[in-house]
Amino acid sequence: MFDVLIIGAGIIGCATAYKLSQFNLNVLLLDKENDVSLGASRANTAIIHGGYDPDPATLMGKYNVKGVKRCIELVDILNIEFKKSGSLIIAFDENDLIKLDMYYDRGLLNGVEGMEMLDGEETHRREPNLSEEVIGALWVPESGVINPWEFTIAMAEVAVREGVQLELNQKVIDIQKASDCYLIKTETDQFQARYVVNAAGVYSDKIHNMVTEPAFKINPTRGQYFLLDRSAGETVKAVIFPCPTELTKGILISPTVHDNILVGPDSEVISDPEDTSTTRETLDFIAKQAQRSVPCLDFRCNIRNYSGIRANSDYNDFFVKISAPNFLDLAAIKSPGLTCAPIIAEEGIKLLAEEGLKLNKKANWDGTRKLIRFKEIPEAERADFIKENPEYGRIICRCEHITEGEIVTAIRRGLPIFSLDAIKRRAGSGLGRCQGGFCGPRVQEIITRETGISPLDILLDKAGSYILVDQTKNADKED
Ligand SMILES: Cc1cc2nc3c(=O)[nH]c(=O)nc-3n(C[C@H](O)[C@H](O)[C@H](O)COP(=O)(O)OP(=O)(O)OC[C@H]3O[C@@H](n4cnc5c(N)ncnc54)[C@H](O)[C@@H]3O)c2cc1C
Repeated sequence: MFDVLIIGAGIIGCATAYKLSQFNLNVLLLDKENDVSLGASRANTAIIHGGYDPDPATLMGKYNVKGVKRCIELVDILNIEFKKSGSLIIAFDENDLIKLDMYYDRGLLNGVEGMEMLDGEETHRREPNLSEEVIGALWVPESGVINPWEFTIAMAEVAVREGVQLELNQKVIDIQKASDCYLIKTETDQFQARYVVNAAGVYSDKIHNMVTEPAFKINPTRGQYFLLDRSAGETVKAVIFPCPTELTKGILISPTVHDNILVGPDSEVISDPEDTSTTRETLDFIAKQAQRSVPCLDFRCNIRNYSGIRANSDYNDFFVKISAPNFLDLAAIKSPGLTCAPIIAEEGIKLLAEEGLKLNKKANWDGTRKLIRFKEIPEAERADFIKENPEYGRIICRCEHITEGEIVTAIRRGLPIFSLDAIKRRAGSGLGRCQGGFCGPRVQEIITRETGISPLDILLDKAGSYILVDQTKNADKED
């Protein structure tokens, strides 16, 4: 019998598990995939949004600015990659300037600090690569870009280290109310819990409907991206947004924490929430829109296209409610869900406490995460460090300069590893220009050595994405 069972190990489920791990509770975190952060929390724009655009009457408006502050605190506590780039929302004409005035006022209502309206000259001084058509901008300094999957994984790693149980490859297919608990059935197992948290992203309406009457409907909405190599240079310093509409924040151009340039996303309602394909037509549209803002963008530097699926809904706000006795929905968490995740988790836990969940703090909870990034060690100290830790002297990923030591410690930090991409998300190997073409086989060898998983069973990413089919050479066989 678990005290709390969380369905979904995206950023919302992991933030909730992280926060709950400080209490004396028996918590289970379930996900249908083979790793945490395989939904929207890995495939998004990675922006810690400033908070100038959500309607102040919504939870999105209420949580956004608090979320930025909490994310920045967590960046230090959990050692997460983050760049406080600021955001620039640009105007092409007088109508856009009127809208920017409206967003400035909205930002003030939401509590955004430090905003400035810039004229054309100042805008171009700050971002010389912007189109000459740009005549002004809204500057929002309290915002930035984060590594979104690292944010999610970091909270899961600490939660598990502090006693939360994580079960992967467990798709919830039914929930029944018993007299004093819920019975949660997955494809292979059954669990009992007094409290259930629904953090199932694009499937959160389905999970809600297993317990109570429908209250909202998710409309999965895909957004596609280009990721440009570092050779594109520092094309922009801040996140560049066109003027938003009520429906979308528009096609933006953003630096990433790894010094790449990210361009996208569009917004397309789709029927299959698993359809993360990209299409030529949409990518052409995105490139054209982006070059209107930054004409020099060089799409020959593209190293990857991907898409993410938003949990947009007909409710048009975060659905954060106790929807049935002891059943908490943290559902329909669309953008700015990444930014608001720590606050959504805190508010959710308050609701669980009002439902009777006892929150007794552990005496020696440690909410921090420490790890070594070899690149960050000063040149002068590296030789001594390698003498003490020889695994950091072997570079495995040449593009990103990731060492064997970083890969090995990523494997040992406590979450199960089934795929090459799990290492990519934890250590950063394979994120660079060759996208793992060079280091992939060496990372496979390290996974096998450290975990005992056969190379034939190591996946590229999700279930079924096998890399190797059979041995091509076998010393024991004559053929
Ligand atoms: C294109 C795009 C751009 C975005 N850009 C930003 C941005 O720049 N800034 C920002 O703040 N926000 C942004 N967001 C929003 C943010 O990414 C999401 O709000 C956030 O990641 C949602 O987290 P989640 O945990 O609710 O969902 P998810 O990360 O999708 O996690 C849900 C989890 O539930 C699991 N699950 C589902 N059904 C079941 C089941 N039956 N049984 C077990 N497990 C199940 C899934 O496998 C998944 O792991 C963006 C989103 C998208 C898609």
